[in-house]
Amino acid sequence: MKTISIIVPCFNEEPTVELFYNTTEKVFKKLNEQKDEEYKPDYLFVNDGSRDKTLEKMRLLNQQHPDEVHYISFSRNFGKESALAAGLENAKGDYVAVMDVDLQDPPELLIQMIDILEDPKQNYQVVGCIQKSRHQNPIRAFLSSSFYKVMNKMSKVPIKQNVRDYRLMTRKYVDAVLELPEYNRFSKGIFSWVGFETKYLEYEGVPRAAGTSSWSLFQLFEYSMEAIVDFSDVPLKLATLIGGFICGLSIIGLIFVVVRALFFGGSVDGWASLVSIILFLNGVVLFCLGIVGEYISKIYLETKHRPQFIIEEKK
Ligand code: UDP
Ligand code: MG
Repeated sequence: MKTISIIVPCFNEEPTVELFYNTTEKVFKKLNEQKDEEYKPDYLFVNDGSRDKTLEKMRLLNQQHPDEVHYISFSRNFGKESALAAGLENAKGDYVAVMDVDLQDPPELLIQMIDILEDPKQNYQVVGCIQKSRHQNPIRAFLSSSFYKVMNKMSKVPIKQNVRDYRLMTRKYVDAVLELPEYNRFSKGIFSWVGFETKYLEYEGVPRAAGTSSWSLFQLFEYSMEAIVDFSDVPLKLATLIGGFICGLSIIGLIFVVVRALFFGGSVDGWASLVSIILFLNGVVLFCLGIVGEYISKIYLETKHRPQFIIEEKK
């Protein structure tokens, strides 16, 4: 018998928790009909500070299926990344899956994923998923595809476009992920950083089963900034490059002014251009300071060694 831990982060997901459980149970039934060996699901719901009755739903499922369903409830909303971290730390299965509760990560794919990880001819340690078409508005789609392009140019850790957090991992892989105890977490980057042979499955995106997506455009922007700052130092180098380029320009300008004063006499003309240059340079300095500040704030948070989440209830 093999156990598959299923980590499910939930934030205000009252209408979907039970639906998720029932749908996934059907998949396990089908899986066990196909296979000689038995696969046992070990659900690990993480309540990320929901304000609706999500926790009650989890308690109920746990009472009905105490062996199969466990949950962790945070003291407040810490974000999906923290929920994933809590899940990975507490998952005990031979395989570990990470899935959204809204059924946008189709549980049926689990069967295919297990086949891939168990194929003796291959050495895959993780199967990831790429969503082919996302049901989102064109502005979001454009912003998201630009993000992946920028990210892949800036960072040495490759991240596939439209890759989901949905994945099935072997114990070996999960143990490797757990060796990264960083406070500022960008899971997609961490998953890519640890390496190992990864297989990607593509599937058609589906709309949410119920409820609404809890990510605002601003949160997505913050998520992208987190990704770039966590996995790339290119912005810092960019600041140095811009600074160097402007220094070079100003030296050329200085030589020009000195030569002109020596041979042609000085001039008081040009204050307007002077003011614009000063303004421009101040802008550049502030921009670069801002970039440095982003990194310093991450170092600051990292050195505090605060826990990534506080657990209020666990079963
Ligand atoms: N989620 C979470 N904490 C948050 C926001 C979201 O645990 O602060 C969970 C949410 O319940 C869902 C998953 O993360 O299971 C993905 O969220 P959502 O469906 O809102 O994102 P999308 O699918 O639109 O990317
Ligand atoms: Mg979703």
